[in-house]
Amino acid sequence: KVRVRFAPSPTGGLHLGGVRTVLFNYLFAKQHKGDFILRIEDTDQTRYVPGAEEYINECLRWCGLTPDESPAVGGPYAPYRQSERKPLYRQYAEQLVKSGHAYYAFDTPEELESMRERMKTPENPQPQYNHKIREKMRNSFTLSEAEVQELLAKNTPHVIRIKMPADQELSFTDLIRGEVTINTGQVDDKVLLKADGMPTYHLAVVVDDYLMKITHAFRGEEWLPSAPVHILLWKYLGWEADMPQWAHLPLILKPDGNGKLSKRDGDRLGFPVYAMNWTDPRSNEFTKGFRELGFLPEAFINMLAMLGWNDGTEQEIFSLEELVNKFSIDRVHKAGAKFDYEKAKWFNHQYLHHKDNESLARLFEPVLEEKGVKANPEYVATVAGLVKERCYFVNDIWDHGFFFFEAPAAYDEAAVKPKWNADKAAFFAEWSAKLDDVSAFTAPELEASFKAFAAEKNIKMGELQLPFRIMLTGGKFGPPVFDIAATLGLAETRTRIAKGVA
Ligand code: GLU
Repeated sequence: KVRVRFAPSPTGGLHLGGVRTVLFNYLFAKQHKGDFILRIEDTDQTRYVPGAEEYINECLRWCGLTPDESPAVGGPYAPYRQSERKPLYRQYAEQLVKSGHAYYAFDTPEELESMRERMKTPENPQPQYNHKIREKMRNSFTLSEAEVQELLAKNTPHVIRIKMPADQELSFTDLIRGEVTINTGQVDDKVLLKADGMPTYHLAVVVDDYLMKITHAFRGEEWLPSAPVHILLWKYLGWEADMPQWAHLPLILKPDGNGKLSKRDGDRLGFPVYAMNWTDPRSNEFTKGFRELGFLPEAFINMLAMLGWNDGTEQEIFSLEELVNKFSIDRVHKAGAKFDYEKAKWFNHQYLHHKDNESLARLFEPVLEEKGVKANPEYVATVAGLVKERCYFVNDIWDHGFFFFEAPAAYDEAAVKPKWNADKAAFFAEWSAKLDDVSAFTAPELEASFKAFAAEKNIKMGELQLPFRIMLTGGKFGPPVFDIAATLGLAETRTRIAKGVA
């Protein structure tokens, strides 16, 4: 059975790349009738940020990408929070020491610091603990077995490090990249178990993917350099036959394609990169999110799916259900995907435009409330229907339709004044009085009556429509003018004409 996982570290708000990783995992799992697991990788207590896990849960809920197993809902492999699995990991680190693939290291922070100082060169400003340095430090290689045992017996602080082969070509198949070969010499002897007994990410991710029977591991491209560590751990622990299939998802790039998209780019260029608003509790730094800016989750998801994937046709609009059916991991591109905010807005516009008016009215309700406007839902739905074609966001309904909720406070005088005259004023006053006669207060009926009366008065329609619009809205904007009048209703239309003519 297919089992995939999203394994975030709770270090802050979710970047859109993170949500795309969730999405691709989810699509793959659902397509194969498999399980999608959320595992919280919180073994690095120094990077732990309160609220980040709740944020992740809420984000998945908003996007409709619900995990089958998670810290919140539990599941057969609980707990799903690595900090709660702490006692589990040491045995595997020790097993690796016994088999000669890992070793104890007793170096103090000061010793590590002085090594870095000694070894650093302009080309290598941050020397790694690797096969070259290993022999110069205090560990199982330089200490005798008796010394190691004595230090352990005295509870001397220590870590367990993987012994990376000095120079070995390691190949594996990536579902997106094909055969990938990395030389183990490029990777240092990563810490597997820390002095406080907590595993590092590298050990925990392998142990948990194994214990949780993960079949496919999809994650961001930034993890590609760590893949050799993980693959060697799978081998060294004797689990190679169960190793998941890897797929490293392409980066999401800045709009100009120049490097990875970051939170800072969003701030600089004025668009969100986080899924939802996030305030860092340590710095109080605020980052705005797609959700609060008015993105619909289905549009957000659709937009993300197209960052690095397509189905081979020109189609761009896909429902989640369609994505589940059509997604294929080997159609994900290797190259990074440029983020284009205008395109993201286009997706939202598409979804907004095709949403039914009643749902839009419900989404618009909080905006009205904030404006202190009370209106019945049917009326709001009609307004939404009239203006949605011009809207990118739910909030835009107000910008394009505020005059449905409040009479114009001022008029665009410049637009009508030059051609305004007593005949026209009389036309409106008289037509307004005749409005009781229209059989139904609908746009076509109103238009017919308006046209007929204009003909009778021998005034060109073209010269009357703009003043009418301005009386109703205040300016040269809005949907077709008779739709506006029909929606406002008889009494309000009359009031606005009277005020306009005066
Ligand atoms: N905890 C890692 C992260 O924060 C997960 C990487 C992986 O999926 O293996 O991205």
